[in-house]
Amino acid sequence: MSHPVRVRFAPSPTGFMHLGNVRAALINYLFALQKKGTFIVRIEDTDQTRNMDYGAQHIIADLSWLGLSYQEGPNVGGPYAPYFQSERNSFYKKYLTTLIEKNMAYPCFCSVEELDKKRQRSIALKMPPRYDRTCMALTEAERLQKITNKMPYIWRYKLPAATVKIHDLARGTIEYDLNNFSDFPLTRQDESFTFIFANFVDDMEMHISHVFRGEDHLSNTALQASLYAAFDATLPLFWHLPMLCNHEGKKLSKRDFGFSLQDLIHGGYLPEAIANYLALICGGSYEHEIMDIHELANAFNFDSINSTGHSKYDVEKLRWINHKWIERLDIPVLAERIRPFLETTYPEAQQLSQEKLTQLVTLLKTDLVTLSDAAKNFGFYFTAPTIDTELVQKYAVSHYVTFIQKYLSTHDSTAFDAAEFTASLSGYCKEHKVPAKELFALVRIALTGHSDGPTIKDLLAILSPQDVFVRLSALLQL
Ligand code: GLU
Repeated sequence: MSHPVRVRFAPSPTGFMHLGNVRAALINYLFALQKKGTFIVRIEDTDQTRNMDYGAQHIIADLSWLGLSYQEGPNVGGPYAPYFQSERNSFYKKYLTTLIEKNMAYPCFCSVEELDKKRQRSIALKMPPRYDRTCMALTEAERLQKITNKMPYIWRYKLPAATVKIHDLARGTIEYDLNNFSDFPLTRQDESFTFIFANFVDDMEMHISHVFRGEDHLSNTALQASLYAAFDATLPLFWHLPMLCNHEGKKLSKRDFGFSLQDLIHGGYLPEAIANYLALICGGSYEHEIMDIHELANAFNFDSINSTGHSKYDVEKLRWINHKWIERLDIPVLAERIRPFLETTYPEAQQLSQEKLTQLVTLLKTDLVTLSDAAKNFGFYFTAPTIDTELVQKYAVSHYVTFIQKYLSTHDSTAFDAAEFTASLSGYCKEHKVPAKELFALVRIALTGHSDGPTIKDLLAILSPQDVFVRLSALLQL
């Protein structure tokens, strides 16, 4: 019988989520969904010096925003609780004790300065900077003496002179010669446990079947594989995800727009589009490009992953997918997502009725690439446009202006009839054999500031008669 699929997202709360984290969470989530497995979230907060206030809560909020719900983890609980590493010391202690009893760990009293000097020396000699096992050679009496003298120490894992093999979905079997690695620390001087050790203990304890994480963890995997062997435990299957790079082929960093999930949220990107885009750049070729999370989970081909190169992050493609998702969302959902962007720019938008907002969204959504575009594109509804006189001059043929002037002087500003006005515009054009397009463009400039955009009929349906009247009058003042 095959083991149940159990995958996890294990972020360290050292800051906000970046795109690499989002991708790791997503891939694990999609795998669990496809294989009907369990998606687990575990917060790796053992390094107290690097934790940020509320870091974990932000990560949890970001996952929820992305729609990546988990079956086990913080706030949800589960059979392997707690899901915060800072609350799991008793597990790590237990496994450390076993390693000490098996004589597979030893205390190391070397100071950070000493270790650094040794490292520099090795590097200068062009040797791999491996720990020279000074403390492994100590006698029991020397150890005791140092401990009695209260010398600070850490526990190191005694790496066996062996090879280990792991299986990676993209790379196949990888064999590591442990002779190339150092006896790595299991604890820190403050008695907390290191990432490599705690992460391994939890994956083993929580029966994680697959570990999908960035390829920057490839060498950690070698060390952890040795720990699995030490406990005679079954190794999970790995997939080391390719590095995300910017358009120059450099590792994606803070300087690249969209690296931080917050950039994307504030920039008006949809969670559906972000997930869609990241899955596309990781999952090979698809028949259709625009897919929701369930379609992605069905389509993602975990069985034929062969890309070990870099994944290129291309904002333009993400923008295209975002635009497609804006078109695909139901209007009421889209309207709700757009509302905060309008309210931030136009305080009066707080009074905007649901009905009016829906009307605006229906008419104007085709031109939105991001939700934040709404602040610009819907602006004419909230404030009269500043008219570009040069633009007006292109369309302001004098007899058009006279026509509008006449129309306004013979009509009532409070009971401006949109249908009648549109009919008059068309009638006038027909009568004078002039292209309606130009006169309509002039009216559009008066109403929105732009010669292109929604039809006059639609604009007249959105704006109040008074607004239309005032804006057309303003055009005549130029
Ligand atoms: N806490 C690690 C990180 O954020 C987890 C890596 C893993 O998935 O094992 O990089």
